[in-house]
Amino acid sequence: MTTLSRRGLLGGMAAATALGPLATHRSAHAAAPVTGKQAPGFYRYKVGSIEVTVVTDGMRDAPMGSLIKNASAEQVNAALDSAFLPKDKFPFVFNPCAVNTGSKLVMIDTGLGPATFAQSKGTAGQTHGNLAAAGIDRNAVDAVIISHFHGDHINGLLNADNTPAFPNAEVMVPAPEWAFWMDDARMNSAPEGLKPNFANARRVFGPLASKITKYEDKKELVPGITSMFTFGHTPGHSSHVIASGSESVVIQADVSNHPALFVRNPGWHAAFDMDAAVAEATRRKLYDQVSADKSRLQGFHFPFPSAGYIEKDGSGYRYVQGTWSPTL
Ligand SMILES: [Zn+2]
Repeated sequence: MTTLSRRGLLGGMAAATALGPLATHRSAHAAAPVTGKQAPGFYRYKVGSIEVTVVTDGMRDAPMGSLIKNASAEQVNAALDSAFLPKDKFPFVFNPCAVNTGSKLVMIDTGLGPATFAQSKGTAGQTHGNLAAAGIDRNAVDAVIISHFHGDHINGLLNADNTPAFPNAEVMVPAPEWAFWMDDARMNSAPEGLKPNFANARRVFGPLASKITKYEDKKELVPGITSMFTFGHTPGHSSHVIASGSESVVIQADVSNHPALFVRNPGWHAAFDMDAAVAEATRRKLYDQVSADKSRLQGFHFPFPSAGYIEKDGSGYRYVQGTWSPTL
């Protein structure tokens, strides 16, 4: 077994220098310009015969402020630090996915859309571009399944000119989510802070009215993809289970946000969970289940490629990112 030591490293470097002309020749090529930008973000894995492509929408930091209601700044910073993340910032990552069942090409959620792509100078709203990089034609998408009506999940349904971004797709939405956000009386009596969310749902779904179908709990939406209502984050929030043969994965949407915060600390309440107590109960129930089943789970707000495993760990849970595979 080799022990990597400073002395060993320096010894190796001395040996490389001793190569003389070869080393000089190689250093001449080190002046190539740096790329300066990230590679397109998509990652594939199989669930039985179904092909899942995680297509990242990118990432944005937000000031932590009081985004976590029942933990101190010290506790939150300690959790960030333990994951080697910068303090005082909320790391919002966004990962929709495309699912090819063999008979249907389906999107689950759509990212922040082209307006955010422009505003953020490309750090978020990347889904449409990354779909193209992944070789997935938006015109070929048969259905878009929406988990809930927050902008990071629905805004990518439209192009910058408000035309449908998936022009041939049926748009499937959770019936209770539609009932909540499209209720005018509820919008009119909502707190001011929530009103833009009602308005945005009308903006996005208006041009898609003829394409929308509403779904209930435990329904097979397309062969191999079944709804699983997981309320709390929003009143009609839904996760989805992809299953084929003996394999399955839970596409959890926003049952939790970043795992370093909310998988480790499932009792922490995020300001964006509309009913935080219900969200916590949902989270614990789902994570107890996937821990016991050892089944794969994908989180929309988990670090890309956002698919891995969760196991019980003390009073919380531990997230283990799945290992990258060179083949499908
Ligand atoms: Zn979200």
